[in-house]
Amino acid sequence: MVDVRQGDHQTVQEAGRRLRQGGLVVIPTETVYGLAACTMRGEAVSEIFTLKGRPGDNPLIAHVLDVPMARTITASWPPQAAALAEAFWPGPLTMVLPRNPAVPAVATAGLDTIAVRSPRHPIAQAILQAAGQPLSAPSANRSGCVSPTRAAHVQDDYAGVAAAERLLVVDGGPCEEGLESTVVDLSGDVARVLRCGTVGRDAIKAVIGSLSPTPPPQSQDASPGTRHRHYAPRKDMVCCQRAAVASVLASGDPASVIALADVPVPPPHTHLALPDNPPDAGAALYDLLRQADAASTSRVVAVIPDRDGWAVIQDRLRRGAAG
Ligand code: AMP
Ligand code: MG
Repeated sequence: MVDVRQGDHQTVQEAGRRLRQGGLVVIPTETVYGLAACTMRGEAVSEIFTLKGRPGDNPLIAHVLDVPMARTITASWPPQAAALAEAFWPGPLTMVLPRNPAVPAVATAGLDTIAVRSPRHPIAQAILQAAGQPLSAPSANRSGCVSPTRAAHVQDDYAGVAAAERLLVVDGGPCEEGLESTVVDLSGDVARVLRCGTVGRDAIKAVIGSLSPTPPPQSQDASPGTRHRHYAPRKDMVCCQRAAVASVLASGDPASVIALADVPVPPPHTHLALPDNPPDAGAALYDLLRQADAASTSRVVAVIPDRDGWAVIQDRLRRGAAG
């Protein structure tokens, strides 16, 4: 069993101590829970890959308290990075920058760039303060599972995994955003969004002026994580438009249906209602996907909300179905 503890002062200090000594700790952030180790401790970082079952070519995001800490692991800090950090840190924006060569290669899966982000969650900040150094942390799910947005999700994922026995999971409550950070690559000539998130393209463009028009890669080398199966429940999942839901439901086994509350879902199908606004829907989405996995139904149908402002949720549902 993992060891879930409330994020009080004593637990935060214990987390900092374990991290400094080369251990792993699951930390809450405003996006999703992360499985953390000190970035500069290569052996600890490799244990993250082993415990998660993460492919070795999928680099990690390094979490930092602030810009000075970010600059200890990056080789340069261009004006665009300064401007974006000023506008969005602490918060759910990750920047890809040239890596300081002193950073162990395993922390970036051998790339000469590194992804950095300063989390807003007060417990994540307190743990960074206690560790006193950058923390590499991918989402704390086991590879191939949906990202955890509650401590209980982490507990479920590692139930019965011997290597996770007594792994400290610091409980910071349900994640406020519930979706992974926006990733923007600043290492090339033109800034480029590699993964969409709640910090939108327009907001980034307003700060730095220009942004490559290419949409986030579905599958390409620029963002290795997008090559792997992500955001998918274990069951078969399809997504459809609202107009098609009746025929999709009629033509198969009972389904768990993730859809806005006003989409008609007749029995024997089960309706898992998406909250009516993007922030609340984002915060609930992965918990709903996990509920769909746990239900007795044999498949998942996601009805894509066809509205402005829902781009990130549309993206995650489509990727989940593609997985
Ligand atoms: P996760 O930590 O599981 O949310 O995944 C982190 C995401 O950031 C993955 O999609 C990675 O491929 C991406 N990422 C991390 N570091 C880099 C990097 N140096 N260059 C490009 N993408 C990166
Ligand atoms: Mg992940």
